[in-house]
Amino acid sequence: MRRTHRPARPARPAAVARLAAAAVVTGLAGLAALTGLAGLAGCGKQGSPPAKGPRADALPVYRVSRDFSLPASATWSAAHRRGRLVVGVKDDQPYLGERDPATGTYSGFDIEIAKMTAASLGFAADRVQYKPIASANRETALSNGQIDYYVGTYTINALRKKQVGFAGPYYLAGQGLLVRKDEKDINGPRDLKGKKVCSAAGSTPIQRIERDYPDATPVTYDTYSVCVDNLLTYQVDAVTTDDSILLGYAAKAPNEMKLVGKPFSKEPYGIGLAKGDTALRGALDDAIVAHERDGDWKKAYAATLGLSGVPAPVPPPVDRY
Ligand code: GLU
Repeated sequence: MRRTHRPARPARPAAVARLAAAAVVTGLAGLAALTGLAGLAGCGKQGSPPAKGPRADALPVYRVSRDFSLPASATWSAAHRRGRLVVGVKDDQPYLGERDPATGTYSGFDIEIAKMTAASLGFAADRVQYKPIASANRETALSNGQIDYYVGTYTINALRKKQVGFAGPYYLAGQGLLVRKDEKDINGPRDLKGKKVCSAAGSTPIQRIERDYPDATPVTYDTYSVCVDNLLTYQVDAVTTDDSILLGYAAKAPNEMKLVGKPFSKEPYGIGLAKGDTALRGALDDAIVAHERDGDWKKAYAATLGLSGVPAPVPPPVDRY
């Protein structure tokens, strides 16, 4: 599957411009879904500029621990036997976890966190297999062993800790709001009364809207990129999730969308893993701390999430429980 060359651009009516902007964000699958042109899938992203992603040469290379062994971890032992680590991720979140449809390559800050921790556990980058898992399916995927661990904007909280374990946190985000560029009425969550606000099913942001802003009309999909398509085509009035995620969509279509207001929650990102595997949790905590100390974390941030415009923060302290 190859990306086709860009055709000369005809004058575009506003609706078409909007669809093209949506394609920037969601790739061709999103555009095909919007236009009903399912047959286009796989032909390339006609009419939209190439998505700017992290430059591969700016990414750190992580030292692989050759003699690492963790027999106390059932997850690590099984991965070691199969010679491959399976990491659950997001594939449509720019600068965090994004799959390039042309090459199948994953990039973003969460992908780097996956790679650096995998290297500490003895798995080189070519021994890591990424599996996209939607927000609502993470706990199930971890409990039934579909994935070895999960790195994808996954907020640590008490409710989720009943079902899964968390290493970290390795980053602190906050809930935000994304609206169309010409939106004047929505400047914060209090303005959502009577407005359609879109988020991912099973996410903490949609739960907060339902609990704290009951006058808003929640709309849920599996992924945030579908919400963004809906925002650009006037099906919803706002998209809500972590500011880190929204900044990525806004950075890719700055003439179409903007973030408004201040972050209104704390979302500490953890690496999700099977609940009982305390040996793996400890090893992942050690790996996060080591890569924060040796500068890898900062370099990885600068080459990925930093591209959406926010300078590297100090990472939150790891919480060993
Ligand atoms: N961090 C939030 C959560 O874990 C929102 C992002 C996401 O859905 O991955 O629910």
